[in-house]
Amino acid sequence: MVRDELLRLRASTQAEAATLARDLEALFAASRDSNADDEHDPEGVTIGFERAQLTALLATARERIAEVDEALRRVDTATYGICERCERPIAAERLAVRPFARCCMACA
Ligand SMILES: [Zn+2]
Repeated sequence: MVRDELLRLRASTQAEAATLARDLEALFAASRDSNADDEHDPEGVTIGFERAQLTALLATARERIAEVDEALRRVDTATYGICERCERPIAAERLAVRPFARCCMACA
């Protein structure tokens, strides 16, 4: 079932986002404690870089959750698997790789 697959994907992405959020928080706490947030401090640069990376990963995970939610809505309205642009069915192989795809290969 597509719906189950989407719900599983949503749960795993949410767990991933939670881990990233926790790591990010720990990093903030660490930089507060050590006061290593100074860009002239080599450790501060590393923390800043790590923080930027985690922030980007977290944003990606949250975007993914929104995409999966959107796909679940399409399952509910029976428009799942239909290209948003040309309204042709999206190839099963594409949906297998990107279960939340909104467009067919030709339109993407
Ligand atoms: Zn299309």
